Amino acid sequence: MITFLSGGTGTPKLMRGYRTLMEDHEMTVIVNTAEDMWFSGSHLSPDLDTVMYLFADLLDTERWWGIEDDTNITSKFLEKIGYPEPVTLGDRDRAVNIARADMLRAGMTLTGATRHLSSRLQCDATILPMCDTEVTTCIQSNGSEMHFQEYWVKHRGAVPVDAVVRRCSESPVATKQVLQAIRDADAVIIGPSNPVTSISPILECEGVKDALKDQFVIVISPFIGDAPVSGPAAELMMAWDMAPNGQATYDLYRDFTDVFVQDIRDPVAIEGAVRLDTLMTDKEVALALAESIQQIIDTAADHINS
Ligand code: GDP
Repeated sequence: MITFLSGGTGTPKLMRGYRTLMEDHEMTVIVNTAEDMWFSGSHLSPDLDTVMYLFADLLDTERWWGIEDDTNITSKFLEKIGYPEPVTLGDRDRAVNIARADMLRAGMTLTGATRHLSSRLQCDATILPMCDTEVTTCIQSNGSEMHFQEYWVKHRGAVPVDAVVRRCSESPVATKQVLQAIRDADAVIIGPSNPVTSISPILECEGVKDALKDQFVIVISPFIGDAPVSGPAAELMMAWDMAPNGQATYDLYRDFTDVFVQDIRDPVAIEGAVRLDTLMTDKEVALALAESIQQIIDTAADHINS
């Protein structure tokens, strides 16, 4: 079994390649939930949904969020009646968000609600939220603080980032399922997801870093040179006083990383890193990358067993 730590774009791209290599039921995904948000009575969990839709063969892989060919009837009508929402939700996507909100309000944990939704959507992979309490990534800009979704969706990332902070009423603790998924895996893959908004929230859950130290962990850099392949990772890394590159990403994960993979095009040389083509422009590149990663994992396992 392979366990992934994932956000909603880079790692899902890699998992799409992995799906050709192994059965879905051999994969477990620990997912960031710090971008979750309640609105219109429903509960948005963008990264959980992207991962679920990927394994349910429903994902819109042009945008890497939402359901392919979804309609926006409810969203447009809400706008017409003067009730615009912070995020545009497709109609079928909204159904999932309504159902999750209902389950949470009825007292189910997010882990339980995700299990239920995954099963109804016929996902064979095990999909686990990082924790069962609410954590929110917030952006501080020009003296005010906003939800990450407001920064990224409403402002399209076009406001200065003074700080990135996490807000929660109780410190996040990894669920027992998360810790078991790390412990029981043949290897853990930290895909090329945003270090500040996708992977760090998972690492901040109590128990995760210690569990990773006892595992074989392979990390794929989301940066090529001083720019991410997509998204706001550069601004967010700089707000944390880190360089926006693979070296700083490696430094962030150094305590538990066994193999660090950087792109063949990356001009920032990282000592000991493995070079692979990580630019997953299509499914074929993602599969080739998955094959190379799996070879590293198999070789390491042979080495340990011999
Ligand atoms: P989010 O939840 O939508 O922000 O998604 P993630 O955190 O999972 O992924 C965003 C990160 O994926 C960005 O920092 C990108 O640089 C990285 N990324 C996206 N596509 C690729 C790719 O093809 N190759 C690599 N190496 N990184 C990628």
